[in-house]
Amino acid sequence: MSDLVSYIKEANHTFVTDHAASGITELSKYPARKLAVLACMDARLLYLLEPALGLKRGDANIIKVAGNTAGRGFDSVIGSLMVAVYELHVEDILVIGHDDCGMLHTTSASLCEKMAAAGIPAAVIEELEPRLMAWADPVCDSEESVRVAVRQLQKNPYLPDTVRFHGAVIRPDTGDVRFIVENAEKK
Ligand SMILES: [Zn+2]
Repeated sequence: MSDLVSYIKEANHTFVTDHAASGITELSKYPARKLAVLACMDARLLYLLEPALGLKRGDANIIKVAGNTAGRGFDSVIGSLMVAVYELHVEDILVIGHDDCGMLHTTSASLCEKMAAAGIPAAVIEELEPRLMAWADPVCDSEESVRVAVRQLQKNPYLPDTVRFHGAVIRPDTGDVRFIVENAEKK
């Protein structure tokens, strides 16, 4: 682990030096394209997702969670979207999934089994299991999971009627994006 921290510190030193030499650009915290993107945390989307969508620094709020899931009520994803919409003037929300998502094969059973093997007490696992089932088990198709997340956001009571919702899937190898939902409104 210390090797990783050393690697990051060294990389950061080089980056800051180069970044200062290239001229630091002042950017607004308000996303220039009034867009929030809910994407998956998959490592292959690093350095791929934003350029594939034509987004540059300062253009959008990017929220990343495993399987780009959105819940029914309030959670940190909805809270982040609320900040984007109410505080940062975002008008469009794009949910973007990707092919070959790890969440398609991750289930409550697989997580519980690995937690048990890692020494997490059975009582803790049992208590969490219903929430894991509701979260992980419905994600079994990349396009359908995007449709489900968009529908959840459309129905979410904390987001206003003024927001437009979009859904898409990106290929993690080529960056090719196909839209599943365009310009959907609040339900
Ligand atoms: Zn994924």
